[in-house]
Amino acid sequence: MKVYFLGTGTSQGIPVIGSHHSVCLSDNLKDKRLRVSVWIHDADFSIVIDCGPDFRQQMLTSKCVRLDALLFTHEHADHTAGLDDIRPFYFAQGDIPIYAHDRVLKNLARRFDYIFEKENKYPGAPSVVTHEVKENESFSVKNQTIIPINAMHGNLQVFGYRIKDFVYLTDVKTIEDSELDKLKNVEVLVINALRFEPHNTHFNIEEALNFINLVQPKKAYLTHISHIMGFHDEVQKQLPNNVFLAFDNLEIEIE
Ligand SMILES: [Zn+2]
Repeated sequence: MKVYFLGTGTSQGIPVIGSHHSVCLSDNLKDKRLRVSVWIHDADFSIVIDCGPDFRQQMLTSKCVRLDALLFTHEHADHTAGLDDIRPFYFAQGDIPIYAHDRVLKNLARRFDYIFEKENKYPGAPSVVTHEVKENESFSVKNQTIIPINAMHGNLQVFGYRIKDFVYLTDVKTIEDSELDKLKNVEVLVINALRFEPHNTHFNIEEALNFINLVQPKKAYLTHISHIMGFHDEVQKQLPNNVFLAFDNLEIEIE
């Protein structure tokens, strides 16, 4: 199974529009970050987590040509605003299965009403099949079991997902100890780390490293990164041996 990091930046992406911050001006491709998303695929399935405003570019760059499921972590725009661009997948495959918390499905149905409409639909509009993700209820996509993991993004509930021994968690600020059972024997953990300074609704780097210590994955990758975290190459040097700053278009293999 392969995991392709489609985007690893926080909500504004890097570079930030109009910014003269040295990280935003960096020529290193590892310092250019689209909004967070991952593509998890093998011969039998192709799953994308989140669908932010960079979705179209991410699908073109990664050469993802099939979408068996789109999973959502939560409804914030940096994770959902690209939903209209599922159109090419819809034209090729028919209705696209989406998986999210009931609250998120309702939010998407409000914001993208024309996608969820059943009657008098505009001919070019895409359609989805909705699947509600519930706490403590695993589900399958193409015979692949997916375990939702419950966490909090400040006051907002978010879902992370476990597929085999891979766990993807983003926009986490707190997580109940009871969820840690679902993270046992993880090979690769992806977890958000915004910057060095604390933040109300996201882990900073210290909180992310403490969480990694608790989970004890073989390897951990940090994502949802702000430009004020610093240059990729500088920050990477300060991390423990098994912890890596993710970067856009990084692909890793998981057994
Ligand atoms: Zn976010």
